[in-house]
Amino acid sequence: MSEVLVLVDHVEGEIKKVTLELLTLARSLGTPSAVWAGPGYSDAAKARLAEYGAEKIYVADSEEIAQYVVAPKAELLARLVADKAPAGVLVAATGEGKEIAGRLAVKTDSGVITDAVGVDGDFVAELSIFGGGVNVRSRVVKGTPIIAVRPNATAPVAAPAAGAEEKVEVALSDAARAARIVERVVQEKGGRPELTEAAIVVSGGRGVGSADNFSIIEKLADSLGAAVGASRAATDAGWYPHAFQVGQTGKTVSPQLYIAAGISGAIQHRAGMQTSKTIVVINKDPEAPIFEIADFGVVGDLFQVVPQLTEEIEKRK
Ligand SMILES: Cc1cc2nc3c(=O)[nH]c(=O)nc-3n(C[C@H](O)[C@H](O)[C@H](O)COP(=O)(O)OP(=O)(O)OC[C@H]3O[C@@H](n4cnc5c(N)ncnc54)[C@H](O)[C@@H]3O)c2cc1C
Repeated sequence: MSEVLVLVDHVEGEIKKVTLELLTLARSLGTPSAVWAGPGYSDAAKARLAEYGAEKIYVADSEEIAQYVVAPKAELLARLVADKAPAGVLVAATGEGKEIAGRLAVKTDSGVITDAVGVDGDFVAELSIFGGGVNVRSRVVKGTPIIAVRPNATAPVAAPAAGAEEKVEVALSDAARAARIVERVVQEKGGRPELTEAAIVVSGGRGVGSADNFSIIEKLADSLGAAVGASRAATDAGWYPHAFQVGQTGKTVSPQLYIAAGISGAIQHRAGMQTSKTIVVINKDPEAPIFEIADFGVVGDLFQVVPQLTEEIEKRK
C-alpha cells in the first residue's frame, strides 16, 4: 500500500492528540508515515507514533526548522512528496496546519482540502459547510491529495507498527527564512484540556445567566475531565472569555461528547459543534431547536439538572 504522510503536530516534543487521530485515519488510506519537524524528537515520541501505526517516521529535528514560521515545514513536506510520491498528505486543520497545507499545495501543484471531518479510502473528504447546513464530499483531482483534517474527526485507536526512523536533512531556502520567530510566549493553561482537542466539551449559553453561574458548568466539566465552551450570547455578555466561544465565529469542536446547557441551538452555534459524536442537551424549553440534533435531551432547569449530574458523576469515581 502507498505511503500516507502525516505531519506530526507537537509542542516541543509533546505530541498532540490530533496526530494520533490522523495516524488512525491514515491507516484506512494506506501505510502511515509520520513526519517530524523541529526539535523535541525522543524515544518516547517514536514509541507513541509507532504505537498508533506509523510504519516510518521521517525525522527532520533541526533547531532551525522551529526558528521560522510555517514555511520550513511546507518545504520539508514538499521534498518528501517529491522523493516518496505518497498517496496523500494529512495535516491537522489548525491555523498552522491549514497554512502549511496551502503552501504545500502550491509547491507541489496539487489540490488541497481543508477542514475535513472525515476522509474515506479513496481520499474523498467530507466537509460540513455553510454554517453546517450542507455536507459535501470532495476529492483532489490534481497532484497529491493534501487534506487538513479537523481535530476529533476520528477517535484515535492504537495499532502498533514498525516506526522505522529515517533522518531527513532540509536545506531551507531563503524564502523559508523570510519570517523569523523572535519570541514565544507559552499561554497559561488551566487544568482543563484544550477546547478543540478535548474528547468531552461542556458548554453554557445565555441560560446560565451570569459569569458567576458559569462555575456550575466548570464543575460539571471538571468532573468529566472536559473542556468548557460557551455560546456567543454568553461570551458577548462577558460571562466567559471569547477564546471559549463555540460556533461559526468561534471554535469548531467535534468531541466524542458535547453537553449544551442553556443554549438554544442557533445555526451559528451548531456550525461549531454539530459534528460531535454524542450531543446531550439540557434546556428548559422543549421547543428549543438544539433538541433536533440531540442524542439525549433533558427538559429542565439547568440549575437543578447540572449540579445533580455533577454529583452523580462524582459519586461514580
Ligand atoms: C454572523 C453571526 C455569527 C455568530 N456566531 C456565533 C457563534 O460562533 N457561536 C454562537 O454560539 N452564536 C453565534 N451567533 C449568535 C447566534 O445567532 C445566537 O444568538 C447565539 O448562539 C444564542 O446563544 P444562546 O443559545 O446561548 O442564547 P439563546 O438563544 O438566548 O438561548 C438560551 C437558551 O437557554 C435556555 N434557558 C434559559 N434559562 C434556562 C435554564 N435555567 N435552564 C435550562 N435552559 C435555560 C432557553 O430556553 C434558551 O433555549 C452568531 C450570530 C451571527 C449573526
